[in-house]
Amino acid sequence: MSADNPDLAIAQAATLEPITEIAERAGVPAKALVPYGSYKAKVDVRQMTPSGKQGRLVLVSAMSPTPAGEGKSTTTVGLADAFSLMGHRTMVALREPALGPIMGIKGGATGGGHAQVVPMEDINLHFTGDFHAIQIANNTLAALVDNHIHQGNALGIDPRRVQWKRVVDVNDRALRRTVIGLGGAAQGVPREDGFDIVVASEIMAVLCLATDLKDLQERIDRIVVGFTYDRRPVTVEDLEVGGAITMLLKDALLPNLVQTLGGTPALVHGGPFANIAHGCNSLAATRLALSLADITVTEAGFGSDLGAEKFLDIKSRVGDLAPDAAVVVGTVRALKMHGGVAKTDLATEDIEAALRGTENLARHVENLRKFGIEPVIALNRFPTDTEAELEAVLDWAKEQGFRAALSEVWAKGGEGGRAVAEQVLAAIEQDEPDFHHLYDPVDGIEESLRTLAREVYGAEDVVFEDRAPAQLRMLKRNGWDTLPVCVAKTQYSFSDDPSALGAPTGHVLHVRDLVPRIGAGFVVALTGAIMTMPGLPKEPAALRMGVTESGESIGLF
Ligand code: ADP
Repeated sequence: MSADNPDLAIAQAATLEPITEIAERAGVPAKALVPYGSYKAKVDVRQMTPSGKQGRLVLVSAMSPTPAGEGKSTTTVGLADAFSLMGHRTMVALREPALGPIMGIKGGATGGGHAQVVPMEDINLHFTGDFHAIQIANNTLAALVDNHIHQGNALGIDPRRVQWKRVVDVNDRALRRTVIGLGGAAQGVPREDGFDIVVASEIMAVLCLATDLKDLQERIDRIVVGFTYDRRPVTVEDLEVGGAITMLLKDALLPNLVQTLGGTPALVHGGPFANIAHGCNSLAATRLALSLADITVTEAGFGSDLGAEKFLDIKSRVGDLAPDAAVVVGTVRALKMHGGVAKTDLATEDIEAALRGTENLARHVENLRKFGIEPVIALNRFPTDTEAELEAVLDWAKEQGFRAALSEVWAKGGEGGRAVAEQVLAAIEQDEPDFHHLYDPVDGIEESLRTLAREVYGAEDVVFEDRAPAQLRMLKRNGWDTLPVCVAKTQYSFSDDPSALGAPTGHVLHVRDLVPRIGAGFVVALTGAIMTMPGLPKEPAALRMGVTESGESIGLF
């Protein structure tokens, strides 16, 4: 098992510190610690007095991902361990892994090598039950909507215009479109329905943006579940079930405390995907970390075009956050793929291809500059990289005037992150704060999308097709067209075409639907062929998974 699965072997061999000690080191008072076994706990922030402290925030993003894997979580965790080694009071804030994709391609999402959050198996599997709570809250609301329609439909909900879908934490393409309520009058009102994956649920977004329980309930009350026959929105408040849904989420709202392999306290909480949702761990976790640590390292999913943009334009707005520094993770392997090399040929040295691929990395750096942040490139070293390739990329970065350093955290843990950490510290100390959002939502959703398309994706324009034009009119009618926009887009390309690698320009962003997420406080723009319920690949990671007789997992990575 260890030879072909170093992540799990390293995690299983690690000696963990009791969570009570991690909590003490983090500054979490004993009365606020709610242990889930010996190595995990929830932090009941309601039992804590605000420290008034606001530490430094480091945002980790990456170049456009490839099937070769970039190591964002690995770099985030390793960088935090480097800061800890250097004597800084540090915390990590990460998203929780979603089970559906773990069974598909991902196989896990807790970092890798000697830079992981642990207990790795627990975090990757059912952890503290947050996703289950979100799933149940989401589906309870769905059942309450259908029950309302069945029991006389006093609100006059048009069954054809229910927009609240059911969710499940499984990549199950067969559930994308369903028909429910079949079987006669006793089984409810038949209607077309469909499932999303849990990480796309508005409940996930709401939980991750809520500042406290009161705000959580207010957001839940504002959720629009559908429309009446005369096209008026119907909210959770209209259904009078916001209290019940909030109750189901009261524990899930509390951040989860674990540790890194280097003993750095880590908050792993919330998990909207960055390609179909807003892509950042909970605001509650980020705020808690900032109030306890001098440096908080957090990851926003995928690149500057997805998680980082959403962190900077959505989460920062809600939470009044301003990153003090940013990191863009790059790898020689991903650079080579963006430079045209096939996945099967990545082990062969190809400096030219790596340099061709730098156009992708450069665009991510330039994108962050547009937000007023000068990032540090962390070149995540893989065992197959050659010295000449690494040197060529670092030289290129220097010539461009980009900050860059080699990251060896996968092989060496925190020690391997010192070079990046030093540059990040220098950025924190030297850079004048100049952070700003990229668009102003009051200019309207079309303008916000145009700005993102042109400035971040390198596109020429935006087209609204399929359902989008009608939805745009609906948004305007309801006064929702001045909310921030959360773009659902492939992570593989700056464009909406996953095969357009590198740094495409001159393309058009195809917006095919616009979905109001009023509880979350944004509108989701679905672009290209992106789906909110993924499928499993032909050879899912599940084929290599199992469990030993003593209960140890096999096949997570
Ligand atoms: P991301 O956050 O970008 O999805 P992860 O940090 O989860 O990526 O890493 C994905 C996989 O790649 C993990 O199995 C991890 O062990 C592996 N990986 C990451 N960095 C390296 C590296 N430098 N060398 C070898 N494997 C790595």
